[in-house]
Amino acid sequence: MAELLKGAPVAVRLTEEAASRSAALSARGVVPTLCLIRVGERADDLSCERGLLKRAASAGVDVRKVVLDATCSQGELMAAVASANADPAVHGILMFRTLPASLEEAAACEAIAPEKDVDCLTSASLAGVFAGSGEGYAPCTAGAVMHLLDAAGVPLEGARVTVVGRSLVVGRPVAMMLQAANATVTMCHSKTRDLARACREAGVLVVACGRARMVGADCVRPGQVVIDVGINWDEGAGRLVGDVDFDVVEPIAGAVTPVPGGVGSLTTAVLMTHVVQAAERAAARAEGE
Ligand code: NDP
Repeated sequence: MAELLKGAPVAVRLTEEAASRSAALSARGVVPTLCLIRVGERADDLSCERGLLKRAASAGVDVRKVVLDATCSQGELMAAVASANADPAVHGILMFRTLPASLEEAAACEAIAPEKDVDCLTSASLAGVFAGSGEGYAPCTAGAVMHLLDAAGVPLEGARVTVVGRSLVVGRPVAMMLQAANATVTMCHSKTRDLARACREAGVLVVACGRARMVGADCVRPGQVVIDVGINWDEGAGRLVGDVDFDVVEPIAGAVTPVPGGVGSLTTAVLMTHVVQAAERAAARAEGE
């Protein structure tokens, strides 16, 4: 039986750390503040928003909601971003996606001020992750993977890690962060030949392919650490499932994340850490002026 790598205890620790840093900032007259931009009333966004507001309250982070109608114009969306950029009391900006098809999502993301881009929506932030410069903030999901591995005490230096998926949101940034931690990283994608072998060869397997239960018993070996980033709704089972077939992988692997309850339960806590850090950096800049 594999060790279960649950996200909740790590999320609690990160939130407590964020709350203590928020309290220190409050003593300097700064309240870490996130501007949340939501377009329309998608059920996914509303559910995510509820979780985020709860987490923010525990972390001592103030949230300002900007809600635009699903039929809003690009100009209205850009104005909302510009207003949050210009407001010195706002330290981080998060925009729920996917935006309605009538809007240019890439342009709206790119308009976010890099120093307030707490979920890596701009190319400037991605450049920071790829260059390993420490500037900007990594995507929260990629950050959650790194925090989970760290909390589980998984040594990364010199380790062979396979990442399945190469999206700019998860696969590629997490591969860069793993490399920065001195792992030897193999990136796999839909054209990879003999995916199962590439997966088995790694000591750590990170799966973010967006295919429900795709990674099965042939992809894992005893002792392996398996991190499942996937979130898929299984209509038949009536529940969320990962990109890893948990039932067949769990008896083989050394450790595995559950879905739900693994990576996904950590992302809002990572987001709060980023907002607090953005507030600390803004306060340091203001005090230096
Ligand atoms: P994308 O669809 O953007 O990317 C999927 C990646 O997987 C692509 O690089 C694709 O390859 C690769 N892939 C697809 N099919 C295969 C295959 N048969 N074999 C190998 N590789 C394959 O997905 P995301 O990166 O946005 O998301 C990945 C998963 O993570 C999803 O399940 C999503 O729900 C989940 N997710 C979870 C979050 C969380 O907070 N826990 C947040 C964000 C996402 P190619 O490039 O060749 O097309």
